[in-house]
Amino acid sequence: MPFACIQCGECCSQMGDVHLVREDCGDGSILMENRYTGEVHTVRVDPDRALLLADRSIFERWPLACPFLREDPVDGKVCCIIHHTRPDICREYRCWRLLIVDARGTRVGRVMERRHLATDDPALAAFWETHVACIREDDDARWDERAIAALTGVGYIVRR
Ligand code: SF4
Ligand code: SF4
Repeated sequence: MPFACIQCGECCSQMGDVHLVREDCGDGSILMENRYTGEVHTVRVDPDRALLLADRSIFERWPLACPFLREDPVDGKVCCIIHHTRPDICREYRCWRLLIVDARGTRVGRVMERRHLATDDPALAAFWETHVACIREDDDARWDERAIAALTGVGYIVRR
């Protein structure tokens, strides 16, 4: 299954230290700088998201969020207001390898990097600890299969 971003915004919530606004050029374009690589990009606010620019309420929740992150008050989704011109580092990012969904279709966890579980769901965390984290398997593909079998065996749906 192809990667599908659900616009939770978590991946951009700590990027304010990385992506800096170097200059507002005044013509709708903005120079942004990657503080760590020194790369400078010219970006533009997406026309259909221009009204969100002035709404900085998301920084109350995430003070270190990327300066281009906003929450859409209409649908509650978090979005990048420079989505169409965002830098490559953002285009290439995939936050999870395996997505864990419960029987009602609610996302309850993500497997990130090799075998790290990100979840706020206590039941999944407990199951993972007792039935998945203990899987001893060096081969990543086989580990994935065993982890998926354990999770689907108790009703979770795993997407990748
Ligand atoms: S890439 Fe992942 S963490 Fe980032 S907004 Fe999409 S689903 Fe959320
Ligand atoms: S530029 Fe957009 S996609 Fe990249 S970190 Fe900022 S809000 Fe996220």
